[in-house]
Amino acid sequence: MRTFIDRIMHEEADGYSSDNSDCSMDSMDSVLNACVCTSSLGTNSRYRKTQAVSAHVVASNPDFGILFDVDGVLARGSTPLEPAKRAMEKLKDSNGHLRVPVAFVTNACNRSHDKARQIGNWFDLEVSPDQVIHAPTPAKLLRDLHDKHTLVIGQEHRLDIGADLGFENCCTIDDVKEAYPLLDMVDHENRKVVARGQYKENPDFPRVEAILLIGEPTHWESNLQLLIDLLLTQGKPTEAPTDVHAVPQIPVIACNMDLVFMAEACMFGHGAFLVCLEALYKKITGKDLEYTSLVGKPCEITYRFAEHTIVKIAKRMGINKPIKRLYFFGDNPHVDIVGANLYDRYIKQNALNLANGNESDGSTSSTDSSGLPSSRVIPANADLHDQTVEHCYSMLVGTGVYKAGTEMNKKGPDGKVIYHGHRDIAHEPHLTQPHKFVHDVHDGIDYIFEREALLSA
Ligand SMILES: [Mg+2]
Repeated sequence: MRTFIDRIMHEEADGYSSDNSDCSMDSMDSVLNACVCTSSLGTNSRYRKTQAVSAHVVASNPDFGILFDVDGVLARGSTPLEPAKRAMEKLKDSNGHLRVPVAFVTNACNRSHDKARQIGNWFDLEVSPDQVIHAPTPAKLLRDLHDKHTLVIGQEHRLDIGADLGFENCCTIDDVKEAYPLLDMVDHENRKVVARGQYKENPDFPRVEAILLIGEPTHWESNLQLLIDLLLTQGKPTEAPTDVHAVPQIPVIACNMDLVFMAEACMFGHGAFLVCLEALYKKITGKDLEYTSLVGKPCEITYRFAEHTIVKIAKRMGINKPIKRLYFFGDNPHVDIVGANLYDRYIKQNALNLANGNESDGSTSSTDSSGLPSSRVIPANADLHDQTVEHCYSMLVGTGVYKAGTEMNKKGPDGKVIYHGHRDIAHEPHLTQPHKFVHDVHDGIDYIFEREALLSA
C-alpha cells in the first residue's frame, strides 16, 4: 500500500501539488497567511507547490471536502443566513443532491439527528445524522472507556447523547446525589432534608469509573461539589480520603472548551465550568486536573473525525479517489480557525514523521508521533478511515463572531494578549490567522469553485 508521502511524491511527479503557494493568491491573503504558511512544510522542496489551481478536479469526482461550522456561518440561532442558502444551492446538482462531500462541525451539544433535520429543512437537503459532528461526537473513538460506569455531566438529552457515543453504562449527577445525600450541603434545601433525617443513602451505588463532561450543567455549585467528591475518592465517596494529594484520578473527558460564546451578549460556555472545576481541584489537591481526552473544536481529534466523516460520505457518494483537501468554514478565529490550522499542522507533522521513517500511517497517532499533549492524542485503536488529507484550509467568514478589521488578539492592561483558550492548548496567536477571509460562506464557495476548477451546476 502506498504511503502518504508516496502519494504526495506521485502527485508532484504528475505536475500537481497543493501546499502553500495558494496562500499568496492575493495581497490580503498573503498578510493573513504569512504565519500559517511558515508553520507548515513550505521550506521542504519536496512539498513545494508548483501551481496554484488543481485543474484535474472534476465535478463528478472531487477529491476535496467542505466542513461547515453552523452558528455564524450557516445560521444565526434557528434562522438560516441568506448567503448560506445560496451557497448550498450552488453545491447541489440538478437533482438537488450535494456534489461535494460535506459535513457540519459544531461545538454545540445536541442529538445529531435533531440537528441534521434542522439543517436539512433550512437548505432543502438530505442530511444524515452522521454528517453532523457535535462537540462530544469524537468521544465515539474513546472505546477503552465505553464500558465504564460513566457520570455524564450536561443538560437535556445527556443520557441519550452518552449512549449514542457508545458509553454503555451511564448515570447522572442526580443519581449520584440521590445515592450520597450527605455530600451536597451547598444546596440548602438538601441540608434541610438531611437535618430532618428524611434521606436514605445507597452505599451500593456502583463506583463511578469515568466522568464525561459534555456541556455545562445547571446548578454548578452542586455539580462542582459532587465532582470534586468523586475525584477525591476514585468515584466511590463512601469514605473520606485520608490524603487528597495521593488519590489517583479517574478518567475525565471534556467536550467543548469554549470559555464564552456570542449570542445577544457574551455568554458563559462549557469552558467556564471547566475553569471552575480545574481551579477547585488544584486548590484542594495542589495538582492539575488531568483530562484523559479533550474533544470538540479546536482539538485535533475533532478535525480528524471530520476527515473520517468526509471520507465516509465521499464513499457513499461513489467518489473513488482519496480526499486530499479539506476546507473548513468558521466564524470564530480562536476556535474554528485555530482548530483547522492545528489540524493542518498535525497532518503535515505526520507526513514529516513518515518521511523520517516513523511507522505511523497518519490514521492513528501517539504522543511520540504527533507531539501533542496526552489530552489531545488521538487513540491508537480509533476505528477511522485512512488519513489521506494533505491540507486543511481555514476559511474565516464575517457573518458571525468575527468582524472584518477587528483585532483578533486583544491585549489586557499588562500588555499581554488575553487568552480564552484551554490550558492544554498552547497560546499561538498566529494560528488565529485564516488561510482565507471571505465576507460570507457564499463568497467562500465561489472561492473554492474557482480554486478547484469546479463548474457551477
Ligand atoms: Mg460559529
